[in-house]
Amino acid sequence: MNSLHARHRAVLPDWLALYYDRPIEITHGEGRHVWDADGRRYLDFFGGILTTMTAHALPEVTKAIAEQAGRIVHSSTLYLNRPMVELAERIATLSGIPDARVFFTTSGTEANDTALLLATAYRGSNQVLAMRNSYHGRSFSTVGVTGNSAWSPTGLSPLQTLYLHGAVRTRGPFAGLTDERFTEAAVADLEDLLGHTHRTAALLAEPVQGVGGFTSPPDGLYAAFRKVLDRHGVLWISDEVQTGWGRTGDHFWGWQAHAQAGPPDMLTFAKGIGNGMSIGGVVARAEIMNCLDANSISTFGGSPVTMAAGLANLTYLLDHDLQGNARRVGGLLIERIRAAAAGVGLVREVRGRGLMIGIELADPATGRAAPEAASAVLESAREHGLLIGKGGGHDTSALRVAPPLSLTVAEAEEGAAILEQALRSL
Ligand code: PMP
Repeated sequence: MNSLHARHRAVLPDWLALYYDRPIEITHGEGRHVWDADGRRYLDFFGGILTTMTAHALPEVTKAIAEQAGRIVHSSTLYLNRPMVELAERIATLSGIPDARVFFTTSGTEANDTALLLATAYRGSNQVLAMRNSYHGRSFSTVGVTGNSAWSPTGLSPLQTLYLHGAVRTRGPFAGLTDERFTEAAVADLEDLLGHTHRTAALLAEPVQGVGGFTSPPDGLYAAFRKVLDRHGVLWISDEVQTGWGRTGDHFWGWQAHAQAGPPDMLTFAKGIGNGMSIGGVVARAEIMNCLDANSISTFGGSPVTMAAGLANLTYLLDHDLQGNARRVGGLLIERIRAAAAGVGLVREVRGRGLMIGIELADPATGRAAPEAASAVLESAREHGLLIGKGGGHDTSALRVAPPLSLTVAEAEEGAAILEQALRSL
């Protein structure tokens, strides 16, 4: 244990888990690479999830942060705040939600918490629907909608939550069904559930489950859900914390894979929009956003420095068509990873969209999840200079690949080669 690790252990909570047997202290980054305190360079295939949406140390964003910090770092809520208004205008337009209002928070958890506050107030009900295997945060309300005990420190909640099937294809009662049959079964399940409940406020769901191992339902599932939800007046909240801003390649928002449904009533965002700065937020139809009688609910949400970063980052990712890059380079990367995994018995599935690729590991003989193998691949990739992530069901048996959206073809090839080595050493 190096001394910083020992000091971390001594002073921070035991549950502040670190990756790797020998945790890494990252000291700086550039583009798609980061360096540790020993001067080792790593190709970062997880920075996208850990907030670096675009690139490490992107000069346009760094400059915007420095300039705004040099002018004023100030309360975001009591006075007019130009960068906040400008970013809100752009996000409102991009959201696809009619008559959209935007509220900024400092994290995805707080964004979902606010969406739940709004939905429960608007509907006068604290009963909500969430998907099994979901992750929406670890605050008091969001643990209550996180359908994945491995990522939820308690099961206590101020909400009454009902969990739906439909986000996971490899497990559960609908495993193995065709897209059409799967959708029919999941919708019938929802119909049945709502037929037996009292007033329900909302369904909160990730279009592609992030922490859950990058698993997605068949396209159109949420459109089919929407018809049922509408009949019961239940709101649809799309958690775009991982899927927003073009990461899934084909779409700017994850909900657009279900586009027949039109936009959700609310969407939540965070992580990558700030390219590392702490921005989260909720977009909602004005009628829903304005159902609260509050003068504000966040001191730091919308701070001018984070908003300046968000504006610069959003401008960069739109101007450079990073969504298109996610589609092209992500498409190539998933092909390379599928080829790398071919014949590796422990790989049950390689799945994903754009630059959001999951590799699920399971014992081929028993079908049981293989979390130890996932850890072994993570360690081996690190030894060879590649950082990736872990996730997945109750068992953390999926590897997660989510590089910054500016990933180049050469970097995709390099990372896939390291992954191949790591998978074949299993
Ligand atoms: N929603 C989703 C889909 C997430 O992946 C996360 C973070 N992993 C959150 C919400 C919570 O975001 P934060 O960590 O910024 O609070």
